[in-house]
Amino acid sequence: MLEKVLIANRGEIALRILRACKELGIKTVAVHSTADRELMHLGLADETVCIGPAPANLSYLNIPAIISAAELTGATAIHPGYGFLAENADFAEQVEKSGFAFIGPKAETIRLMGDKVSAKDAMKLAKVPTVPGSDGPLPEDEETALRIGREVGYPVIIKAAGGGGGRGMRVVHKEEDLIEAAKQTRAEAAAWFSNPMVYLEKYLTNPRHVEVQVISDGQGQAIHLGDRDCSLQRRHQKVLEEAPAPFIDEQARKDVFAACVKACIDIGYRGAGTFEFLYENGRFYFIEMNTRVQVEHPVSEMVTGIDIVKEMLSIAAGNKLSFTQDDVVIHGHSLECRINAEDPKTFVPSPGLVKHFHAPGGNGVRVDSHLYSGYKVPSNYDSLIAKLITWGATRDEAMARMRNALDEIVVDGIKTNIPLHRDLTRDEGFCEGGVNIHYLEHKLAAEKH
Ligand code: ADP
Repeated sequence: MLEKVLIANRGEIALRILRACKELGIKTVAVHSTADRELMHLGLADETVCIGPAPANLSYLNIPAIISAAELTGATAIHPGYGFLAENADFAEQVEKSGFAFIGPKAETIRLMGDKVSAKDAMKLAKVPTVPGSDGPLPEDEETALRIGREVGYPVIIKAAGGGGGRGMRVVHKEEDLIEAAKQTRAEAAAWFSNPMVYLEKYLTNPRHVEVQVISDGQGQAIHLGDRDCSLQRRHQKVLEEAPAPFIDEQARKDVFAACVKACIDIGYRGAGTFEFLYENGRFYFIEMNTRVQVEHPVSEMVTGIDIVKEMLSIAAGNKLSFTQDDVVIHGHSLECRINAEDPKTFVPSPGLVKHFHAPGGNGVRVDSHLYSGYKVPSNYDSLIAKLITWGATRDEAMARMRNALDEIVVDGIKTNIPLHRDLTRDEGFCEGGVNIHYLEHKLAAEKH
């Protein structure tokens, strides 16, 4: 096993990784910014290192500071969590060049999958179904771009090759708007992702977001842990997730699982990863791969009983997968509510002092959160403060437990989106299951009027 892991992240995921390390008897180094001295996991780690001031580019994105902290403390491996440097191929490369194990895929895999154009090409080669669109980048030549748009058929969506976090996307409904939209998206992509390349896809009008969790040891063995439905989104950002995805065509599901596993073997994938798809009319269309642990990984853990983070640590230590596909049995149903420090109506972030925090409990309830009474949520980072996860033998049972948990949870002092989740878990359409990616925004818009 690994000896000492540096956790290059903060908040709930840093605590999640720390817990897994402790279970495995691995020593931990927690790094933090000056704004994060009060983070819960710092008190539980073997060592802590302050890596810089509050702005993320000076701390959690500061590669030399993180590598120095690893050297200073004698860490042997680095876990990047999600966000920050988790999908930064240069970081992965520098970590390995400096003699540490990177707990994730090889830098070249991150690079391949981080560029959505090359990722789609690789998936096509592995026979994973993709969204129809421009084969490769959308050319700047206007005539060619218009021809591609016509062939694909409107509406289309223009997406940044280097995009992420739901940014750098523009839907185009008619040909007249294509050139201008491409220009704007290119400019945004250059500014945000330092890569102006864009590509074009058919805009699917009523898809669901369904993704497949995989784990692969990079030594020829790969398995999937089933699917998750993350269709409840606002501004392309996930709000509430579940596993397994309800009402999926069984043959399509089997085929997509087999394709994902084969793709992992084909690209020599190492670690945990997620293939994201849009699902419409019984068919899957690949949109991107995330080469890291995801926020919503717990719902897959709840229905498989497999600890994804522990498996990542084991693979990074050079071990083979500790189980086979036959060992993976999907049992029951799980839901996850992302609790954010934000106004439930306007979605404006609401950092500040948590005067009182009470975590819910009971059978099948899991809380992944770094909150405690007296903790001050800093304004510098993501607003995710807790993940409320429930398991039930059926979807209805998981939903009833989630309603209870949402009734019990107390976060006093700051605004949170808990009221939104209370509402969603009582929403008739969502409770029936299988809503599409526009459902939440339509619901919110209808409530405004
Ligand atoms: P990001 O990396 O920024 O998360 P994705 O490619 O994963 O971007 O897309 C995020 C979300 O945007 C999807 O979950 C879906 O809601 C929407 N989306 C992306 N591509 C399409 C498409 N071709 N048609 C319809 N919606 C799309």
